[in-house]
Amino acid sequence: MREALFYEENNENSVVCTLCPHRCIISNSKTGLCGVRMNKKGVLYSLNYGEISSISLDPIEKKPLFHFYPGTDILSVGSWGCNFKCPFCQNWQISQERPNVQRIDPMRLINIALEHNSKGIAYTYNEPMVWFEFVLDSSRLATKEGIYNVLVTNGFIEPEPLNLLLQSIQAMNIDLKGFNEDFYKKVCLGDLKPVLNVIEKSVEHGIHVEITTLIIPGANDDLNDLKREFKWLSNLNPDIPLHISRYFPNYKYTVPPTSVDELIRVYETAKEYLNFVYLGNIWDKKCESTYCPSCGELVIEREGYNVKFVGIDEEGNCKKCGRNIVKNL
Ligand code: SF4
Ligand code: SF4
Repeated sequence: MREALFYEENNENSVVCTLCPHRCIISNSKTGLCGVRMNKKGVLYSLNYGEISSISLDPIEKKPLFHFYPGTDILSVGSWGCNFKCPFCQNWQISQERPNVQRIDPMRLINIALEHNSKGIAYTYNEPMVWFEFVLDSSRLATKEGIYNVLVTNGFIEPEPLNLLLQSIQAMNIDLKGFNEDFYKKVCLGDLKPVLNVIEKSVEHGIHVEITTLIIPGANDDLNDLKREFKWLSNLNPDIPLHISRYFPNYKYTVPPTSVDELIRVYETAKEYLNFVYLGNIWDKKCESTYCPSCGELVIEREGYNVKFVGIDEEGNCKKCGRNIVKNL
């Protein structure tokens, strides 16, 4: 347990957590919506500081990040808690409930990364923004040791803590759960606008950003909404990689999985706007591989987590036409 960095006094009995746009008003002995920030007699504490529910060495493609040190493994850690309540959450046992945990301090985490020759650490599995103080301490220490830091996140955080965290983060995969306010508010208990602000700020800050959109039939798959999302991303930077992911029933959602035909339709539409589009959770070599947007050459071939550099040079440029594909190789 550690005192939270972002909160304000409200009145004698409550505080306001200012970490994420929910800005929960929290009474004594209660937690906010994420379940991991508790008010104890006017002091707000992070309950999950140093608590790890899962740790493993994963292919970086699993995050997913396809244009950031492709073909390498990354030490991946998660805690518990989340500031959204997605009823289709695949990690609900740790995002919505309190699991068994191991205790760890930031230095031990860095040492585990070094022992496993991992060039980076990914804060993932549950929502890293509500693990803020531990992620901040660990990422600062990791950066000093030459280890990069990745967030796999829903992007729901207030501007001030985001600015602080971005100083020691090098890459992010941000979940953009469609382009529909109602879906964000009513289904996920989140809000679209702050997520768009986080994507914009992170790109402006020079962070390597990739986006994931899970396509759920009948929920967030309106093609006009999706076109608006692709256009918005393209205006920000058409080279932002987009992962369109197949939904499978999980947690409280029982509707059948997204059809492959629908996913291919969304994939083809996204490619009209963006240079690097991928399909996830369907294991299709063609839709997981990278093609040069300038000359069309196959540059990185992927099959599951097997990665082959077939048309890319050591600087991350297309061997045929020289167009840059990957900045960090
Ligand atoms: S981080 Fe948690 S407690 Fe704080 S405002 Fe967000 S949901 Fe509420
Ligand atoms: S934001 Fe992610 S971790 Fe949180 S509830 Fe939704 S799917 Fe689960």
